[in-house]
Amino acid sequence: MYDTNLPTAELQALDAAHHLHPFTDGSGLIHKGARVITGAEGVWLTDSENNRILDAMAGLWCVNIGFGRPEMAEVAAAQVRQLSFYNTFFQTTHVPAVHLAAKLAELAPGELNQVFFNGSGSDSNDTNIRVVRHYWAAKGKPEKDIIISRWNGYHGSTMGSASLGGMKGMHSQGGLPIPGILHIEQPDWYFEGGDMTPEEFGLARARLLERAIDKVGEGRVAAFIAEPIQGAGGVIIPPETYWPEIQRICDEREILLIADEVITGFGRTGNWFGSQTLGIRPDVMTVAKGLSSGYAPIGASLLSDEVAQVINDAGEFNHGYTYSAHPLCAALALENLRILQDEDVIGHVQTVAGPYLQEKWKALEDHPLVGDASIVGMMGSIAMTPDKAARARFASEEGTVGLICRERCFANNLVMRHVGDRMVIAPPLVISEDEIDIFIDRAVQSLDETHARLKADGLMVAA
Ligand SMILES: *Cc1c(COP(=O)(O)O)cnc(C)c1O
Repeated sequence: MYDTNLPTAELQALDAAHHLHPFTDGSGLIHKGARVITGAEGVWLTDSENNRILDAMAGLWCVNIGFGRPEMAEVAAAQVRQLSFYNTFFQTTHVPAVHLAAKLAELAPGELNQVFFNGSGSDSNDTNIRVVRHYWAAKGKPEKDIIISRWNGYHGSTMGSASLGGMKGMHSQGGLPIPGILHIEQPDWYFEGGDMTPEEFGLARARLLERAIDKVGEGRVAAFIAEPIQGAGGVIIPPETYWPEIQRICDEREILLIADEVITGFGRTGNWFGSQTLGIRPDVMTVAKGLSSGYAPIGASLLSDEVAQVINDAGEFNHGYTYSAHPLCAALALENLRILQDEDVIGHVQTVAGPYLQEKWKALEDHPLVGDASIVGMMGSIAMTPDKAARARFASEEGTVGLICRERCFANNLVMRHVGDRMVIAPPLVISEDEIDIFIDRAVQSLDETHARLKADGLMVAA
């Protein structure tokens, strides 16, 4: 297959010589050397130094059924033998694509019965930009082309999807955003809510959508896109008043609602989709990540019957990817959905591991460094603060404390990610109660070490 015997230092040197890593300061990595992951099973990673690392990030928010399932390996081998590739252009289809589209239509809520396949979450959101603009043009309203999204939202890293996203660091490189995208502020009550109650703040932030629509005119706005719960932005769970108000505005103003469920889909929040957990009725839904549990790259745009009908009636839709509905990826997605269903993984999140993890996670609020520990289903975050009463940020540059904590987690063989000075988690949904105990022990240890370090370095200072 490949040489499995190279020592770590040689792998790191070769990696540094030829491999540019995503979202990484390359020059920094060259000196440090990347951690080399060699295998994984369940919730456990193995590295080239034979450490066993608990992965509380499910790879990158995606390995919902856990790593290394033999059923998946068998399906992959069988599909490669049967049909390794064929496209779905030019009036052809193939068996895994047929079944997967039907399965997604069955699982997705409401009228989301139509599927356009893509290669990833980013591709899917690029498809969505084209779908919603083409939809309004086909209805005789081509000037309805603006898409409203949120600062600190994440929708991917292609030109279109990164423009939808509200990551200022991404916009600062490569000439983003593309025209026709407007951003409003996010519903982050903990750090931005000031003196408002969460309920007041949720309404206020939702009404920014109404203000933005009024400003450019309803006749110009095609859609609003948001993650039901922001993931890469720091697992920011909106106040309960937020989504009902957003839904009201979208309904009243005749704009399409796109729910980006790339993280929240496939059981992450304790239902099949985050839209069900948060009471959202989207016209378009983006899925990827948990769709295949990361066993193969695949994404999809789920469209309501009405949206799809308008697109279909408008002649040829001039869009598609070579790997739309790639048979290997589609077969793996189907097997992943079968496992989620047959093993009642969502029931496990709802009634077993979910409540157990939520209780332990909430208890972290007793830690001196933790201002807020939020969790829905199996995605959670902790906001670290030097002053709990004031919900203060640190005086140090944002992310300094988060990075220290992430390094401590790494040293304790735990993967938690930091977003600014929040720590975020999204473990495989199949995690057991025993594994949750180990996870929380390592998290507390890492928080203790971070706290000690901050005190020693004089960093427990509010901004
Ligand atoms: C990861 C992510 C994407 C992008 O998916 P890729 O497969 O990395 O292109 C889009 N939206 C959300 C909400 C995501 O978390």
